[in-house]
Amino acid sequence: METALIYVIAAAVFVIIFVPYFIKFRKAQLESIKRREEAEKLGLTRGRTQYPFIDEEHCIGCGSCVAACPESDVLAVVNGKAMIVNGLRCIGHGHCEKVCPVNALKVGLGDLARRDDIPLLNDSLETTVPGLYIVGELSGFSLIRNAISQGQRAVNHIASQNGKFKPDDPIKEVIIVGAGPAGLTAALACKKHNLDFLVLDRQGTGGTILQYPRRKLVMTQPVELPLYGRLKKHEYTKEELLDIWEKITADYQIEVKSGYNVEHISKEGDVFTVHASGEIFQARKVVLALGRRGVPRKLHVPGEEMSKVMYNLIDAQSYKNCHILVVGGGDSAVEAAVGLARQKGNRVTISYRKSQFFRIKKKNEERINRLIKEKKIQPIFNSTVLEIRPDAVKLRTEEAIREIPNDFTFIFAGGEPPFKMLRKMGIQFGGQAPPRN
Ligand SMILES: Cc1cc2nc3c(=O)[nH]c(=O)nc-3n(C[C@H](O)[C@H](O)[C@H](O)COP(=O)(O)OP(=O)(O)OC[C@H]3O[C@@H](n4cnc5c(N)ncnc54)[C@H](O)[C@@H]3O)c2cc1C
Ligand code: SF4
Repeated sequence: METALIYVIAAAVFVIIFVPYFIKFRKAQLESIKRREEAEKLGLTRGRTQYPFIDEEHCIGCGSCVAACPESDVLAVVNGKAMIVNGLRCIGHGHCEKVCPVNALKVGLGDLARRDDIPLLNDSLETTVPGLYIVGELSGFSLIRNAISQGQRAVNHIASQNGKFKPDDPIKEVIIVGAGPAGLTAALACKKHNLDFLVLDRQGTGGTILQYPRRKLVMTQPVELPLYGRLKKHEYTKEELLDIWEKITADYQIEVKSGYNVEHISKEGDVFTVHASGEIFQARKVVLALGRRGVPRKLHVPGEEMSKVMYNLIDAQSYKNCHILVVGGGDSAVEAAVGLARQKGNRVTISYRKSQFFRIKKKNEERINRLIKEKKIQPIFNSTVLEIRPDAVKLRTEEAIREIPNDFTFIFAGGEPPFKMLRKMGIQFGGQAPPRN
């Protein structure tokens, strides 16, 4: 009798504790399998820059890498092995590599011969066009610390090669294109080596950091900047980082020519001609620090040129009591819609051409679903923008053409990386030619 009771209690404990755990585990597994299958279909199984490569033979499926990733939802354990479920979200922190107990995961660029999105560079970061360098995220390596170290490496190499500077030479020694972390560090290194240089950027100083949301925490590692010294902390807010860049440009008199969009660079003899916004600039060496975000994709609809149409949202708090349309269905669009819907008096509509949101982070999915339920965001799926007017937007939906009131429109349709322009300059990419020594 007593034994039977023990069996009954044990069975009850098993049912109460393990069955729910098993059901939850199985549900998560099925979800991961589905996400991996989707990732394969959508081509999301690799990253934009460096990303995790998993040695399936050695992976024991412990999931430490999944838990360690600060961006979340990049990796998942599928059928007992770590796999990428959204590579585009990876920005290469590398925490996954550090925590893997069996060294089954490495973060890198993989086999360059297969990557036609990575320019071929030598150890000094010079491209296949001698005198033309690529630094920062454009090289394939994301993260601010990589941008800083590459900006210095390229200019140290230029300085080691350069002859004597002639003060009356109208041709610059170096032109740097891009004033993000890589370009600004290259400029500081030019100052340090007393090189005559010029920085061009189509926006202003700061690069991608300018596009981060307000008060975003930026993770980095202590890193040395030429002349300025060490950036000591592991975490900065966006605003702190921008203040540092501002101080650097003021203290070391680094002039950034803003509003210059570089469209082409040609080379004759040992002189480069940089074509930017209708002007030309000449230099003996060029450092490209363009990043990989590229130009925001446009909708090409009437009215898109109006100043009320924007391609990023820096500060949701600046918009109150407005009719706002957000176009897109990825994380950036959803985060913008959520931020705007939380401001007083806003009526936010999100228009997306697909029937549901596209691979968004779980946290974002929960937030937007809650706001949709509370009627603070109105989603219009399977819709496209036809026209933007000063006070309205015309949308084509499955049922009809609709016109909704509109004060501001935010478009998040992705970006076009500058690879075509680089190829036109003669720069070769991986998968195109054998790497140079
Ligand atoms: C949402 C998000 C979060 C991130 N979080 C972190 C983090 O926590 N820690 C971290 O280390 N990294 C983070 N990163 C990555 C980091 O921002 C980038 O790796 C870094 O900014 C790359 O620096 P860069 O100088 O190479 O390029 P960018 O910062 O992209 O700067 C490129 C500059 O080139 C200019 N430019 C481009 N094309 C042209 C042209 N044709 N003519 C003229 N100018 C041009 C642009 O206007 C821009 O100013 C994050 C990135 C994103 C998007
Ligand atoms: S930490 Fe290593 S062993 Fe564990 S799941 Fe990730 S890759 Fe596999």
